[in-house]
This record gives sequence, structure tokens and C-alpha cells, in this order.
Amino acid sequence: MLLRNIVLFFFVCFSCIYTHDRCTSSEKPAYASLQNIQKNMEQLPCISDGTALKNPIKKVYLKREGDKYFFCIDFIDDISFTPRMYLLPNGAKVILSFNEAVSAPKTKRTNHKVIKGYFFEKFGKSSLMFVLALKENVTFTEKLYTSNSIKIGFRINKKKLIAIDAGHGGRDPGTKSIGGDYEKNITLVMAIELREILMKSGRYKVILTRDKDSFLSIDERKEKVDGTDLMISLHTDSNNDKKLRGISIYTLPNLDSLTNSLGKYDTNENAENYRKILSRSRKFSNILVSYIPNICKISNRPCRNIELKILKVNLPAVLIELGCVTNRTDNTLLHSKDFRDKTNRAILYALDDFFEKEEKK
Ligand SMILES: [Zn+2]
Repeated sequence: MLLRNIVLFFFVCFSCIYTHDRCTSSEKPAYASLQNIQKNMEQLPCISDGTALKNPIKKVYLKREGDKYFFCIDFIDDISFTPRMYLLPNGAKVILSFNEAVSAPKTKRTNHKVIKGYFFEKFGKSSLMFVLALKENVTFTEKLYTSNSIKIGFRINKKKLIAIDAGHGGRDPGTKSIGGDYEKNITLVMAIELREILMKSGRYKVILTRDKDSFLSIDERKEKVDGTDLMISLHTDSNNDKKLRGISIYTLPNLDSLTNSLGKYDTNENAENYRKILSRSRKFSNILVSYIPNICKISNRPCRNIELKILKVNLPAVLIELGCVTNRTDNTLLHSKDFRDKTNRAILYALDDFFEKEEKK
């Protein structure tokens, strides 16, 4: 057994040396028994120093046209390639396959206000992987290929400003939970944690209507959220039926169902504006429901309409009842960081989805 291992060891060592030499040699293999090993070696990146191989990249540069950027790669004229491009919210990955063996150009670091950096890496014998990392969240507008260049067009996304309204506060405690805690405390913890998750994404700026246990009138809250891109008001539900549980999301009712308690809509302009904003709020509400994890057991009718003064703002707005604090399971979940994180991430993904859809329109 030992002797067999020693023979095998020398055989493998010899094979490695032989196949390594083959990278720079055109000689045919002398031993048919080595062919399988050579086949496997050819699937690995060639370890040549690149001097005998073509560097296919002539120039890499960034062009600006108005608010649009183009990241451009020019190739040497006599080389043909096939690209596969994968776009990410803050970067791109491109696999370039050539008809001949190529070497990777040296990695460049940049200190550009938009580009974090980029690099080429050898990928197999005749392919390069190119990775572009951007400092900002962007929307890619186009991918242009010509016979000797690639252009990747993008626009920098402006950060959206989200208002998070923690319901109740101060002398208004809200509902009392089955465990004795008050709604105002649960909504405040949730609002602060949601702010952190949204800001960490790098895609949002956040304002809170309150960040401590203080009382605010509805008008004071509305004044604070004015001018933001979307408002989320956080509350918890309660019910005499202790079995009732789950998340519900509220938006305003249709214009013709309003009792006019929220203000008059006597001009066409006001009515049209109301309809437009309500339609956007409902879109966000429907998207959010699709992201809420199963753990939250969404109630049978998760998207509801209600004539609430806090929702009557000049921007898309939803009120989320995060769960029923009169239900033991919901109350336990609302006091669990894991549950709050899952729900907050669902809100983040729903916001991403909502604004992405709006921008594509
Ligand atoms: Zn409430």
C-alpha cells in the first residue's frame, strides 16, 4: 500500500510539472496515460505569466452625459468577444469570453466619487471576469455592445426620504398588551429599529415623528412628515377576541366613500390629486403584503381602508397594525427582535420594489 502511494505521488508530481510546462509549449503529450490529467488541468486557469498571451483591454474609462454615466471598456481591434452581464443595485459583473487565450490586465483602484473600484480576473483559459463596484445605488439604463467596446449606462439614484411615525406616545399610551406593556413603547422600538435597517441599506434617509416617549398631536405629526417620499405609521391592534391576530395595512378609502371628515374635495384638482396619491399608497400596501413573512400570519383581509386623519397627507401613506397585542402569540412576537427584524426587512424590500417599479414607469 505504501509503495503504491509513493509511486502515485511521483506520478502526480511528474504530471503536474509536465502539464504546467505545456502552458507555454506547443509540444504534443508523449504519454497517452496523462491525457485525462491534462484535460482536467486545462479547465483550471492557466498559470502562465501572461507575456505570451494577449491583453485584450485597450482602455477603461467613465463618460458623463448630463445626469447619466457610461462606464466604457474598449478592446483591442483584432479580438472578438462574447459578453454576459449581471447587474446589481450597486455594481456589475461581466464575463467576457474570447476566441483565444487572454491575460488579465492589472487591477485598477480608483478614488472616484462614483466608482469604488474595478478589476479583471482571469476566468478559464480565454475568459475574463470583470467586476465594477459603485459607491452609490444606481439604476442601469443601458448595455451597449459594439465589435470592440462595451458601454454600461447608469444613473445615480437619489436617496428616498421615508417618514416613520411611531403611533401614540407620552400621555397617549395606546392599547395595553396582554403582557402589560403599552402600544406606544412597542411602536417606538419598532420605529427606531426600522430606521436603522433602512439607513443601513444606503438607499434611504429617514425621519421619525418621535424618537422618545413624547406626545404629539396628529397635526404635529403631519407637519413633520410633509415633503417626504412615503410615510409609514406604526401601530398595534387589539381585540376582544383574544384569538384574533396578524398584520393589517390601512390606506384611505376611495374618494366616493369618504364622509368628508378629512377635508373637502370640491375641486377636480384636489380630487385628482387624492386619487393619484391613494393609488400609490395602495400599490405600496399590496407590495408590502407580498413581502410579509409567514411568521406574522397576515389576517384574512390584510389591506384595509380607513378614514384616518394621519393618512390624509400629500404623499403615499400607510398605517401598519403590526399585530394584536391582545393575542398571546402576537404579543410574544412583537417583543422578539427576530420577528421585528423580519418585519422591518419586509418593509425595506417592499420599499425597494415600490420605488423601482415607480422609476421604471
Ligand atoms: Zn394605535
